[in-house]
Amino acid sequence: MRILLVEDDAMIGESVEEGLHGENYAVDWVRDGRAAELALSNQVYDLVLLDLGLPKKQGIEVLITYRKQGGAAPVLIITARDATADRVRGLDAGADDYLIKPYNLDELFARIRALLRRSAGRANPEIAFAGVTLNPATRVVTCQGSPLHLSSREFALLHALMEAPGEVVSKANLEEKLYGWNEEVESNTVEVYIHMLRKKLGSEFIKNVRGVGYKVAAAG
Ligand code: CA
Repeated sequence: MRILLVEDDAMIGESVEEGLHGENYAVDWVRDGRAAELALSNQVYDLVLLDLGLPKKQGIEVLITYRKQGGAAPVLIITARDATADRVRGLDAGADDYLIKPYNLDELFARIRALLRRSAGRANPEIAFAGVTLNPATRVVTCQGSPLHLSSREFALLHALMEAPGEVVSKANLEEKLYGWNEEVESNTVEVYIHMLRKKLGSEFIKNVRGVGYKVAAAG
């Protein structure tokens, strides 16, 4: 899952970026409204974390433009405590949820999971498909009822595939969900993680669609 973090406060931005990495999200962090617009027009994100008070262009303007241009990712706005009017305006402009500064990181992560779940069309926090379950909150993965131990990248890759069961996800798309801008991507990294996941999940669960990408599929 790849998140755009829009935050001009260096201290808050650093702690949120670090926290999101710890939760296995790929993160791109921009510090003003113009950079946010540029990022949103060049990259597909799974979620946007948008501070409203920004240099160069206000967060609300970024949001309005993003929605007008068809941007569909869930947007979580961050506002000051006394800014009720901004929150109302933000929600009416297409934001999906809001948090008030200062906020607790655990609450932020829980809201992100809830928004990602809804945007994938699920109500149940646990994703289940063909005998495999994955819980983004507890990070527990089971196969035929037995818990599996996955590395954080393996988990992130499986999560990306299981959010769209049966759909082919391209290698480039998977790389985008695993790595932010400032992270080096090894050329065969997706293949390596797929190989390790197949060892743990059985060779049939993740199918390679030659020249297109990968999908999780029911056996047979
Ligand atoms: Ca700010």
